[in-house]
Amino acid sequence: MRSAKLYRYRLPMDSGVILREEKLFEREGFIVELHEDGKVGRGEVAPLPGFSLESVQEAGIQIQEQLAVWARGGDVVDFDRLYPSVAFGLSAAQYELQGLLPQEGNYFSAPLCSGDPDGLVEKLQQLPGKKVAKIKVGLYEVVRDGLTISFFLESIPGLSLRLDANRAWNLEKAKKFASKIPPTLRQRIAYIEEPCQSPSDSITFAIDTGIAVGWDETLQQSLRDSDFRLEDLTGVKAIIIKPTVIGSVQRCQYLVEKAKKLGIQPVISSALESSLGLCQLARLSRWLLPDEVPGLDTLNLFKQQLEVSWPDSELPVASLDDQELIWQS
Ligand SMILES: [Mg+2]
Repeated sequence: MRSAKLYRYRLPMDSGVILREEKLFEREGFIVELHEDGKVGRGEVAPLPGFSLESVQEAGIQIQEQLAVWARGGDVVDFDRLYPSVAFGLSAAQYELQGLLPQEGNYFSAPLCSGDPDGLVEKLQQLPGKKVAKIKVGLYEVVRDGLTISFFLESIPGLSLRLDANRAWNLEKAKKFASKIPPTLRQRIAYIEEPCQSPSDSITFAIDTGIAVGWDETLQQSLRDSDFRLEDLTGVKAIIIKPTVIGSVQRCQYLVEKAKKLGIQPVISSALESSLGLCQLARLSRWLLPDEVPGLDTLNLFKQQLEVSWPDSELPVASLDDQELIWQS
């Protein structure tokens, strides 16, 4: 016997969260709950405004349709035809239900840091393995960004940095950024995500500066093309896999395996999921990439967690029962 529930959640965000130039006061999404033979599987469907193409409302309609099919005994035929957020949440719930998503998670994420080396040193001491942190660049003047990164690398020996420019620069600006970082320090930039507006400029940047580049937005866009081949996205060091904008667990697993074969480093990363979805991403990362530090340091952008607590987090936990139950079978 199958039954399903669909909750709509709303969680208050920390006051300073800015997403694509808009303040985000509240995160909204859905939690899917599948019941079968006394077992439960959950998943989160939470399109990210400004990043996902589907709206929260569109995702809500589609997930409800899919749940109705599932509860009647049917199965999803083709996850790739669903919105990425729906495909991820529904497949995660099925994996959990079937016991296919291992419990153990990698909760040691690369700390997201903003300008304070002392605070970062403290956070890095808690990391068991590689000392790796993430810094957003491209929000301020390029020379300042270049000097900041150089300063971090100089003052913390052994630190490796993941940078993210979110396509903020043209090639000239990107090179100006690089010019402020001595070549001897550049190898400790694990990668910079999307330095330039155009992917071909980002490749030129990598060749000319020796700084490795990673794809995030480019991967998302390419996947919308049905003829997509990861082989065509080479020339980069890393791909950033954010399941909410990429799709089903199966698709993420495929990309991880394919990337490894091509010598590209895959990194599982968050798209501002609640603690429930975030903990599943930690489990997914531990399972698919046991030796890789995931990019999941986004919980502190929330004022509350949801149902499942991230280890050692002191944020209060809102219960799923207190969220709006919008559909059940
Ligand atoms: Mg990015």
